Amino acid sequence: PPKAKEVRIKILATGICRTDDHVIKGTMVAKYPVIVGHEATGIVESIGEGVTTVKPGDKVIPLFLPQCRECNACRNPDGNLCIESDVTGRGVLAEGTTRFTCKGKPVYHFMGTSTFTEYTVVNEFALAKIDAAAPPEKVCLIGCGFSTGYGAAIKTGKVTPGSTCAVFGLGGVGLSVIMGCKSAGASRIIGIDLNKNKFEKAMAVGATECISPKDFTKPISEVLSEMTGDNVGYSFEVIGRLDTMVDALASCHLNYGTSVVVGAPPSANMLTYNPMLLFTGRTWKGCVFGGWKTRDDVPKLVTDFMA
Ligand code: NAD
Ligand code: ZN
Repeated sequence: PPKAKEVRIKILATGICRTDDHVIKGTMVAKYPVIVGHEATGIVESIGEGVTTVKPGDKVIPLFLPQCRECNACRNPDGNLCIESDVTGRGVLAEGTTRFTCKGKPVYHFMGTSTFTEYTVVNEFALAKIDAAAPPEKVCLIGCGFSTGYGAAIKTGKVTPGSTCAVFGLGGVGLSVIMGCKSAGASRIIGIDLNKNKFEKAMAVGATECISPKDFTKPISEVLSEMTGDNVGYSFEVIGRLDTMVDALASCHLNYGTSVVVGAPPSANMLTYNPMLLFTGRTWKGCVFGGWKTRDDVPKLVTDFMA
Protein backbone atom coordinates (compact mmCIF):
# COMPACT_ATOMS: atom_id res chain seq x y z
CA PRO A 1 0.00 0.00 0.00
CA PRO A 2 1.04 3.64 -0.50
CA LYS A 3 2.75 5.39 2.42
CA ALA A 4 2.39 9.11 3.17
CA LYS A 5 2.57 11.34 0.06
CA GLU A 6 2.38 8.25 -2.20
CA VAL A 7 -0.27 7.00 -4.61
CA ARG A 8 -1.14 3.49 -5.78
CA ILE A 9 -2.19 3.24 -9.43
CA LYS A 10 -3.84 0.53 -11.49
CA ILE A 11 -2.00 0.48 -14.83
CA LEU A 12 -4.33 0.63 -17.87
CA ALA A 13 -1.76 0.80 -20.67
CA THR A 14 2.01 1.02 -20.95
CA GLY A 15 4.41 1.63 -23.80
CA ILE A 16 7.90 0.21 -24.20
CA CYS A 17 10.86 2.55 -24.64
CA ARG A 18 14.44 1.76 -25.54
CA THR A 19 15.45 3.06 -22.10
CA ASP A 20 13.78 -0.02 -20.52
CA ASP A 21 16.01 -2.16 -22.70
CA HIS A 22 19.10 -0.13 -21.68
CA VAL A 23 18.35 -1.18 -18.08
CA ILE A 24 17.99 -4.85 -19.00
CA LYS A 25 21.25 -4.76 -21.01
CA GLY A 26 23.08 -2.92 -18.22
CA THR A 27 23.98 0.15 -20.31
CA MET A 28 21.91 2.25 -17.86
CA VAL A 29 22.56 2.11 -14.12
CA ALA A 30 19.80 0.51 -12.03
CA LYS A 31 19.41 -1.63 -8.93
CA TYR A 32 18.31 -5.23 -9.55
CA PRO A 33 15.95 -7.00 -9.40
CA VAL A 34 13.94 -4.16 -10.92
CA ILE A 35 10.54 -3.65 -12.51
CA VAL A 36 11.05 -1.50 -15.60
CA GLY A 37 8.45 0.41 -17.65
CA HIS A 38 7.97 4.16 -17.36
CA GLU A 39 5.49 5.22 -20.07
CA ALA A 40 1.94 4.53 -18.91
CA THR A 41 -1.62 5.60 -18.20
CA GLY A 42 -3.36 4.50 -15.01
CA ILE A 43 -6.20 5.08 -12.57
CA VAL A 44 -5.59 6.11 -8.97
CA GLU A 45 -6.60 3.13 -6.78
CA SER A 46 -5.72 4.49 -3.33
CA ILE A 47 -3.80 7.34 -1.76
CA GLY A 48 -1.50 7.63 1.23
CA GLU A 49 -1.75 10.09 4.08
CA GLY A 50 -1.42 13.76 3.13
CA VAL A 51 -2.05 13.32 -0.60
CA THR A 52 -4.10 16.30 -1.83
CA THR A 53 -3.62 16.61 -5.59
CA VAL A 54 -5.25 13.35 -6.78
CA LYS A 55 -8.05 11.07 -5.53
CA PRO A 56 -9.14 7.49 -6.25
CA GLY A 57 -10.61 7.21 -9.76
CA ASP A 58 -8.50 9.99 -11.34
CA LYS A 59 -6.85 9.16 -14.67
CA VAL A 60 -3.12 9.80 -14.42
CA ILE A 61 0.25 9.50 -16.15
CA PRO A 62 3.17 8.50 -13.87
CA LEU A 63 6.22 10.73 -14.31
CA PHE A 64 9.75 9.30 -14.40
CA LEU A 65 10.81 12.93 -14.15
CA PRO A 66 8.98 14.39 -11.15
CA GLN A 67 8.25 18.04 -10.48
CA CYS A 68 8.65 18.91 -6.78
CA ARG A 69 8.20 22.64 -7.54
CA GLU A 70 10.81 23.52 -4.89
CA CYS A 71 14.28 22.65 -6.25
CA ASN A 72 16.37 24.99 -8.41
CA ALA A 73 15.52 23.18 -11.65
CA CYS A 74 11.78 23.32 -10.88
CA ARG A 75 11.93 27.03 -9.97
CA ASN A 76 13.99 28.02 -13.03
CA PRO A 77 11.73 28.75 -16.04
CA ASP A 78 14.11 26.81 -18.32
CA GLY A 79 14.74 23.87 -15.97
CA ASN A 80 12.98 20.51 -15.70
CA LEU A 81 15.46 18.01 -14.21
CA CYS A 82 13.87 17.94 -10.75
CA ILE A 83 16.24 17.04 -7.93
CA GLU A 84 13.79 14.33 -6.83
CA SER A 85 14.31 12.30 -10.03
CA ASP A 86 16.14 9.00 -9.59
CA VAL A 87 18.86 9.58 -12.20
CA THR A 88 21.45 7.63 -10.20
CA GLY A 89 19.28 4.49 -10.07
CA ARG A 90 18.63 4.24 -6.31
CA GLY A 91 15.53 2.22 -7.09
CA VAL A 92 13.45 3.41 -4.12
CA LEU A 93 10.69 5.97 -3.53
CA ALA A 94 11.37 9.34 -1.83
CA GLU A 95 10.79 7.81 1.61
CA GLY A 96 13.82 5.55 0.98
CA THR A 97 12.30 2.09 0.58
CA THR A 98 10.63 -0.03 -2.12
CA ARG A 99 6.90 -0.93 -2.32
CA PHE A 100 7.56 -4.21 -4.19
CA THR A 101 8.71 -7.51 -2.72
CA CYS A 102 9.07 -11.03 -4.03
CA LYS A 103 9.41 -13.95 -1.59
CA GLY A 104 10.20 -11.45 1.15
CA LYS A 105 13.04 -9.76 -0.78
CA PRO A 106 12.89 -6.18 -2.13
CA VAL A 107 12.25 -5.57 -5.81
CA TYR A 108 13.36 -2.11 -6.95
CA HIS A 109 11.51 0.71 -8.71
CA PHE A 110 12.74 2.10 -12.03
CA MET A 111 12.82 5.93 -12.12
CA GLY A 112 10.02 5.99 -9.55
CA THR A 113 7.52 4.53 -12.03
CA SER A 114 7.77 0.74 -12.73
CA THR A 115 4.78 0.40 -15.04
CA PHE A 116 5.18 -3.18 -16.31
CA THR A 117 2.84 -4.19 -13.49
CA GLU A 118 -0.87 -4.39 -12.72
CA TYR A 119 -0.38 -1.94 -9.82
CA THR A 120 2.47 0.41 -8.93
CA VAL A 121 3.13 2.99 -6.22
CA VAL A 122 4.58 6.42 -7.04
CA ASN A 123 5.40 9.62 -5.17
CA GLU A 124 2.62 12.23 -5.37
CA PHE A 125 5.01 14.69 -7.04
CA ALA A 126 5.58 12.16 -9.86
CA LEU A 127 2.01 12.08 -11.12
CA ALA A 128 0.06 14.14 -13.67
CA LYS A 129 -3.74 14.11 -13.53
CA ILE A 130 -5.10 14.05 -17.09
CA ASP A 131 -8.40 14.37 -18.98
CA ALA A 132 -10.67 11.48 -17.91
CA ALA A 133 -11.73 10.93 -21.54
CA ALA A 134 -8.16 10.44 -22.86
CA PRO A 135 -7.61 7.02 -24.52
CA PRO A 136 -5.09 5.21 -22.24
CA GLU A 137 -3.36 3.22 -25.00
CA LYS A 138 -2.57 6.42 -26.92
CA VAL A 139 -1.74 8.98 -24.23
CA CYS A 140 0.59 6.63 -22.35
CA LEU A 141 3.16 7.67 -25.00
CA ILE A 142 2.97 11.21 -23.61
CA GLY A 143 4.60 9.73 -20.48
CA CYS A 144 7.93 9.44 -22.32
CA GLY A 145 8.55 8.89 -26.04
CA PHE A 146 6.23 11.43 -27.59
CA SER A 147 6.94 14.29 -25.17
CA THR A 148 10.70 13.65 -25.28
CA GLY A 149 10.99 13.83 -29.05
CA TYR A 150 8.44 16.58 -29.63
CA GLY A 151 9.96 18.80 -26.91
CA ALA A 152 13.52 18.15 -28.13
CA ALA A 153 12.52 19.81 -31.41
CA ILE A 154 10.29 22.66 -30.27
CA LYS A 155 11.62 23.47 -26.78
CA THR A 156 15.27 22.41 -26.70
CA GLY A 157 16.32 22.70 -30.35
CA LYS A 158 13.93 25.62 -30.94
CA VAL A 159 13.54 24.63 -34.61
CA THR A 160 12.62 27.64 -36.78
CA PRO A 161 10.17 27.88 -39.72
CA GLY A 162 11.74 27.11 -43.10
CA SER A 163 14.75 25.32 -41.57
CA THR A 164 16.31 21.97 -42.49
CA CYS A 165 16.48 19.23 -39.82
CA ALA A 166 18.27 15.86 -39.66
CA VAL A 167 16.96 13.17 -37.30
CA PHE A 168 19.25 10.22 -36.48
CA GLY A 169 17.19 7.22 -35.33
CA LEU A 170 13.56 6.62 -36.30
CA GLY A 171 12.18 4.77 -33.27
CA GLY A 172 9.24 6.09 -31.25
CA VAL A 173 11.28 9.02 -29.96
CA GLY A 174 12.80 9.92 -33.34
CA LEU A 175 9.36 9.89 -34.99
CA SER A 176 8.20 12.33 -32.31
CA VAL A 177 11.19 14.61 -33.06
CA ILE A 178 9.99 14.63 -36.68
CA MET A 179 6.48 15.65 -35.54
CA GLY A 180 8.01 18.49 -33.51
CA CYS A 181 10.16 19.70 -36.45
CA LYS A 182 7.08 19.62 -38.67
CA SER A 183 4.90 21.55 -36.23
CA ALA A 184 7.71 24.13 -35.83
CA GLY A 185 7.51 24.71 -39.60
CA ALA A 186 10.74 23.05 -40.80
CA SER A 187 10.67 22.79 -44.59
CA ARG A 188 13.03 19.80 -44.93
CA ILE A 189 13.20 16.94 -42.43
CA ILE A 190 15.68 14.19 -43.25
CA GLY A 191 15.34 10.88 -41.38
CA ILE A 192 18.43 8.68 -40.95
CA ASP A 193 18.26 5.02 -39.91
CA LEU A 194 20.09 1.78 -40.70
CA ASN A 195 16.71 0.03 -40.85
CA LYS A 196 14.83 1.06 -44.00
CA ASN A 197 11.60 -0.47 -42.67
CA LYS A 198 11.39 2.67 -40.49
CA PHE A 199 11.19 5.03 -43.48
CA GLU A 200 7.49 4.60 -44.32
CA LYS A 201 6.32 5.63 -40.81
CA ALA A 202 8.82 8.51 -40.75
CA MET A 203 7.46 9.87 -44.06
CA ALA A 204 3.89 9.46 -42.75
CA VAL A 205 4.60 11.68 -39.71
CA GLY A 206 6.45 14.41 -41.61
CA ALA A 207 9.92 13.41 -42.87
CA THR A 208 10.49 14.79 -46.35
CA GLU A 209 13.18 12.20 -47.20
CA CYS A 210 14.99 9.30 -45.50
CA ILE A 211 18.46 7.82 -45.96
CA SER A 212 20.45 4.87 -44.63
CA PRO A 213 24.16 5.34 -43.83
CA LYS A 214 24.66 1.84 -45.27
CA ASP A 215 24.08 3.24 -48.79
CA PHE A 216 27.10 5.57 -48.61
CA THR A 217 30.83 5.19 -48.20
CA LYS A 218 31.53 8.79 -47.20
CA PRO A 219 30.69 10.20 -43.74
CA ILE A 220 26.99 10.89 -43.24
CA SER A 221 27.76 14.55 -42.38
CA GLU A 222 29.19 15.03 -45.90
CA VAL A 223 26.20 13.28 -47.45
CA LEU A 224 23.82 15.63 -45.59
CA SER A 225 25.88 18.68 -46.46
CA GLU A 226 25.71 17.81 -50.18
CA MET A 227 22.01 16.98 -50.06
CA THR A 228 21.11 20.31 -48.42
CA GLY A 229 23.62 22.78 -49.88
CA ASP A 230 25.37 22.82 -46.47
CA ASN A 231 22.29 24.04 -44.61
CA VAL A 232 21.30 21.62 -41.82
CA GLY A 233 20.16 24.01 -39.08
CA TYR A 234 19.22 21.34 -36.52
CA SER A 235 20.31 17.76 -35.95
CA PHE A 236 19.07 15.26 -33.37
CA GLU A 237 20.72 12.07 -32.07
CA VAL A 238 17.87 9.77 -31.07
CA ILE A 239 19.69 6.43 -30.89
CA GLY A 240 21.95 6.49 -27.82
CA ARG A 241 25.38 5.81 -29.41
CA LEU A 242 28.59 7.81 -29.02
CA ASP A 243 29.57 7.63 -32.72
CA THR A 244 26.20 8.92 -33.91
CA MET A 245 26.29 11.74 -31.33
CA VAL A 246 29.45 13.04 -33.02
CA ASP A 247 28.04 12.33 -36.50
CA ALA A 248 24.93 14.36 -35.66
CA LEU A 249 27.02 17.23 -34.28
CA ALA A 250 29.19 17.28 -37.41
CA SER A 251 26.07 17.22 -39.59
CA CYS A 252 24.62 20.55 -38.48
CA HIS A 253 25.98 23.78 -39.99
CA LEU A 254 29.48 24.48 -38.69
CA ASN A 255 28.55 27.98 -37.57
CA TYR A 256 24.83 28.40 -36.87
CA GLY A 257 23.86 24.74 -36.44
CA THR A 258 22.38 23.24 -33.26
CA SER A 259 22.64 19.56 -32.37
CA VAL A 260 20.54 17.95 -29.62
CA VAL A 261 21.48 14.72 -27.80
CA VAL A 262 18.25 12.86 -27.06
CA GLY A 263 19.49 9.24 -27.07
CA ALA A 264 20.62 8.04 -23.65
CA PRO A 265 24.43 7.89 -23.51
CA PRO A 266 25.80 4.47 -22.51
CA SER A 267 26.88 4.80 -18.84
CA ALA A 268 30.61 4.70 -17.99
CA ASN A 269 31.63 5.70 -21.51
CA MET A 270 33.68 8.74 -22.51
CA LEU A 271 33.37 10.49 -25.84
CA THR A 272 36.25 11.85 -27.94
CA TYR A 273 35.53 14.59 -30.46
CA ASN A 274 37.36 17.32 -32.31
CA PRO A 275 36.72 20.60 -30.43
CA MET A 276 36.96 22.41 -33.79
CA LEU A 277 33.36 21.19 -34.26
CA LEU A 278 32.31 23.61 -31.51
CA PHE A 279 34.94 26.33 -32.03
CA THR A 280 33.36 27.33 -35.35
CA GLY A 281 30.09 28.18 -33.59
CA ARG A 282 27.90 25.08 -33.38
CA THR A 283 25.66 24.63 -30.33
CA TRP A 284 25.56 21.17 -28.69
CA LYS A 285 22.85 20.49 -26.14
CA GLY A 286 20.76 17.75 -24.61
CA CYS A 287 17.45 17.34 -22.84
CA VAL A 288 15.55 14.96 -20.64
CA PHE A 289 11.84 14.53 -21.34
CA GLY A 290 12.01 17.17 -24.08
CA GLY A 291 12.60 19.95 -21.56
CA TRP A 292 8.96 19.86 -20.37
CA LYS A 293 8.04 20.57 -16.75
CA THR A 294 6.18 17.35 -16.20
CA ARG A 295 3.27 18.08 -13.82
CA ASP A 296 2.56 21.41 -15.57
CA ASP A 297 2.96 20.29 -19.16
CA VAL A 298 1.84 16.63 -19.41
CA PRO A 299 -1.87 17.46 -18.80
CA LYS A 300 -1.60 20.22 -21.46
CA LEU A 301 0.00 17.84 -23.98
CA VAL A 302 -2.89 15.41 -23.38
CA THR A 303 -5.41 18.22 -23.91
CA ASP A 304 -3.62 19.24 -27.13
CA PHE A 305 -3.79 15.63 -28.32
CA MET A 306 -7.52 15.43 -27.53
CA ALA A 307 -8.10 18.63 -29.55
P1 NAD B 1 14.39 2.67 -30.72
O1 NAD B 1 15.31 1.57 -30.46
O2 NAD B 1 12.94 2.40 -30.95
O3 NAD B 1 14.92 3.49 -32.01
C1 NAD B 1 16.27 3.65 -32.32
C2 NAD B 1 16.43 3.64 -33.83
O4 NAD B 1 17.81 3.88 -34.15
C3 NAD B 1 16.05 2.30 -34.48
O5 NAD B 1 15.12 2.55 -35.53
C4 NAD B 1 17.38 1.77 -35.02
O6 NAD B 1 17.24 1.05 -36.25
C5 NAD B 1 18.19 3.04 -35.24
N1 NAD B 1 19.65 2.86 -35.20
C6 NAD B 1 20.36 2.06 -34.36
N2 NAD B 1 21.69 2.19 -34.61
C7 NAD B 1 21.80 3.11 -35.62
C8 NAD B 1 22.92 3.69 -36.32
N3 NAD B 1 24.18 3.36 -35.99
N4 NAD B 1 22.65 4.59 -37.29
C9 NAD B 1 21.38 4.94 -37.61
N5 NAD B 1 20.30 4.43 -36.99
C10 NAD B 1 20.50 3.52 -36.01
O7 NAD B 1 14.58 3.70 -29.51
P2 NAD B 1 13.59 4.82 -28.90
O8 NAD B 1 12.65 4.18 -27.93
O9 NAD B 1 13.05 5.66 -30.01
O10 NAD B 1 14.65 5.66 -28.02
C11 NAD B 1 15.74 6.31 -28.68
C12 NAD B 1 16.78 6.74 -27.66
O11 NAD B 1 16.26 7.80 -26.86
C13 NAD B 1 17.22 5.66 -26.68
O12 NAD B 1 18.63 5.78 -26.43
C14 NAD B 1 16.47 6.00 -25.42
O13 NAD B 1 17.11 5.53 -24.24
C15 NAD B 1 16.52 7.51 -25.50
N6 NAD B 1 15.51 8.21 -24.69
C16 NAD B 1 15.89 9.38 -24.10
C17 NAD B 1 14.97 10.12 -23.39
C18 NAD B 1 15.34 11.44 -22.80
O14 NAD B 1 14.60 11.92 -21.91
N7 NAD B 1 16.40 12.09 -23.24
C19 NAD B 1 13.66 9.65 -23.26
C20 NAD B 1 13.30 8.49 -23.93
C21 NAD B 1 14.23 7.79 -24.63
ZN1 ZN C 1 11.40 6.37 -22.12
